[in-house]
Amino acid sequence: MIVLSGGTGTPKLLQGLRKMIPDEEITVIVNTAEDIVVSGALVSPDVDTILYLFSGMLDVQKWWGIKDDTFHSNKALKKMGFFEKLMIGDADRATCILRSELMREGKSLTEATSQICRSLGIKARILPMCDEKVDTMISTPQGGMHFQDFWVGKKGVPEVMDVNIQGIEKAKPTREVMAVLNSEENVIIGPSNPITSIGPILALKGMREILTRKKVIAVSPVIGNSPVSGPAGKLMAACGFEVSSSGVARCYGDILDLMIIDERDTTVEADFEIKTVRFDTMMTSVEKSGVLAKRILSEFKS
Ligand code: GDP
Repeated sequence: MIVLSGGTGTPKLLQGLRKMIPDEEITVIVNTAEDIVVSGALVSPDVDTILYLFSGMLDVQKWWGIKDDTFHSNKALKKMGFFEKLMIGDADRATCILRSELMREGKSLTEATSQICRSLGIKARILPMCDEKVDTMISTPQGGMHFQDFWVGKKGVPEVMDVNIQGIEKAKPTREVMAVLNSEENVIIGPSNPITSIGPILALKGMREILTRKKVIAVSPVIGNSPVSGPAGKLMAACGFEVSSSGVARCYGDILDLMIIDERDTTVEADFEIKTVRFDTMMTSVEKSGVLAKRILSEFKS
């Protein structure tokens, strides 16, 4: 099973999917457009969340970082007047340092991720969407800024005029991503931000064409006219999409075979050009994620 993922909604679904199928049968293609160098180490926020999820280390209160991590290095830097762009725990930083060292030796992000997976005993395949550097940039009245500066630095407050994925025109799915897409039939697009998490993956050269030939089931991250969490609504509106599950479906376009929308969703079926199924998509527990994952798997069989 292939799953396209960002760093909060889809990881919740992966928790449940792991109850249904063995990790060895799961491949996660992960957004890397929010990656950023912090204090000399490359942080790949969505990849890290997936790494920690599959290694059982994830802080599932925050959906980033390692549970019970300490923040000595971050605090020590602060004491010396250096404020990091992202809060990074000490153990979390170790992952980022290892990644950066491996890449300095000449390894790609994919190779570095694979080595980290092995060292953490992860059986699932975790594939960064591409090895090229891509950056989600947010246009605001105060000028353009990196997604992390907008979301973490400015707490998502500035008005958003546009979103650009810098470097995407030169980025392509990796050999590993292509190999898995050529050998598997079913793809889940988890409930992730359609603009900043799934958008960059779909924008990779040739990605939409390949996905058109697959059976693709998406779970909407939007219920009614608001996302369950995060800035998806603001960013969708800035990109000209209605903030609704049908707006998300339109954003994904003709690659979709089916969209799972929440049973509370007020959007009517007539607003969709594809088949929809209503289900409880609020993953407030691992058990609920498991039930949702089971339903998705049954849709692939029907
Ligand atoms: P990010 O990388 O941290 O932005 O995380 P993602 O892009 O993976 O996920 C963020 C999206 O997940 C948001 O748009 C939320 O609306 C959605 N989301 C979070 N939790 C849930 C949930 O339990 N159910 C559904 N349907 N969507 C969720």
